[in-house]
Amino acid sequence: MRYISTRGRAAPQSFCDILLGGLAPDGGLYLPESYPQVSRAELDAWRQLSYADLAYEILSKFITDIPPADLKALVAKTYTAQVYCHTRNGGDAAQITPLTRLEDGLYTQELSNGPTLAFKDMAMQLLGNLFEYVLDQRGESINILGATSGDTGSAAEYAMRGKHNVKVFMLSPDGKMSAFQRAQMYSLQDANIFNIAVTGMFDDAQDIVKAVSNDAEFKSRYKIGAVNSINWARVAAQIVYYFQGYFLATRSNDEQVAFSVPSGNFGNICAGHIARQMGLPIARLVLATNENDVLDEFFKTGVYRPRTSAETSVTSSPSMDISKASNFERFVFDLVGRDPAVVADLWAKVDKGQAFDLSATVYWKNLPKFAFVSGRSSHADRLATIRLAQEKYGVMVDTHTADGLKVALENRLPGVPMVVLETAQPAKFEETIREALGSEPVRPADLAGIEKLPQRVVVMAPDVEAVKRYLVERV
Ligand SMILES: *Cc1c(COP(=O)(O)O)cnc(C)c1O
Repeated sequence: MRYISTRGRAAPQSFCDILLGGLAPDGGLYLPESYPQVSRAELDAWRQLSYADLAYEILSKFITDIPPADLKALVAKTYTAQVYCHTRNGGDAAQITPLTRLEDGLYTQELSNGPTLAFKDMAMQLLGNLFEYVLDQRGESINILGATSGDTGSAAEYAMRGKHNVKVFMLSPDGKMSAFQRAQMYSLQDANIFNIAVTGMFDDAQDIVKAVSNDAEFKSRYKIGAVNSINWARVAAQIVYYFQGYFLATRSNDEQVAFSVPSGNFGNICAGHIARQMGLPIARLVLATNENDVLDEFFKTGVYRPRTSAETSVTSSPSMDISKASNFERFVFDLVGRDPAVVADLWAKVDKGQAFDLSATVYWKNLPKFAFVSGRSSHADRLATIRLAQEKYGVMVDTHTADGLKVALENRLPGVPMVVLETAQPAKFEETIREALGSEPVRPADLAGIEKLPQRVVVMAPDVEAVKRYLVERV
């Protein structure tokens, strides 16, 4: 299997060659040359498999440059009931991503049972093991530099902690995260994890990362890397739970399902799109946004209009607060018939902050083929849906999952089970849960009192040179 760029001007690469990098050299995103197809016989055989064995079968179609026995061992050590132990609602941890039945034909799929209680763990835990393996093989090392306002940074730290040849330098806005989020990251005592609290906003932290990454000399000299959401391995890992959700929601492979996906950067639902392209019987992909509705607007009108930061709202489903969707280019590549010249033209506009409009093009007529529908949710909708889930179904959902459920309920198909992807646990968003329900979410027992653990963090002014110095002294 080789990987090509959505913009067509980069040499095809193998999986391990794109694993540690980010964008393709032409600015595009990597995708498989073609999507592997899953036969009916394979689907029938896979229905019986454990999550780890299913993950191996699917990933081995995309990862052909790691010996099968090694890949199998990496996947087996990633997807265990111990790592994904935080099940709720009576879910079976052995299933890794079990379903919770809300009513007949309506489920949530728990993707947030990992160490940080959000779905980013599903892919990031595998990434940690893949990084360690490939770096060991090549005798190389990497220093991951990132900025986080919460979920991604902690998922990266929990995935990379204790891994050889990997160090993580994570910038976060000092005092801007919740006490729980701070405790999750700063209480890690592993020697390869460095938390840097920047006295500023998230954007200041992000700007420092960009400045360091734009310094090509520094970047190559100190082997600076990233684990952002455009990383192909993350998307690939996410394909697996669509298959698992399908098997758990149906009895036979003659049936179809729909998935509803709380979306921000389009990474999660991109994996659903690819599962469907591989032949998984998905009748509908429901894309749910919050008030930051750039993707809902596209699927309704054909206009993709990235927002400025001034137009981006801070909402109560903060992990979906995006101004543009970094993985969306992958879907558009397929929508325009995989013509890289068209994608390059469209993103020449996007990269200048401009919009594009596909509504009057031939490509827009292809859209129904991909079975997407979309909707948006507001803070008021979120509160109402959290209450509805509690009162009608006896299930507490987090704010992001509430956005998914709200839009799912508007887009059900008769006779087709609807699976709402549960992307985080309510315990991470206590304030909004309290606002909706007047009560506290229950936190997993092993995370009770995490705020009282000793913390490891340095506080720094938002100064690029100071961050570089800190890094140089520790790599
Ligand atoms: C990251 C995240 C999302 C959005 O996922 P994308 O892949 O960016 O679309 C939704 N919910 C939660 C809780 C997240 O952490």
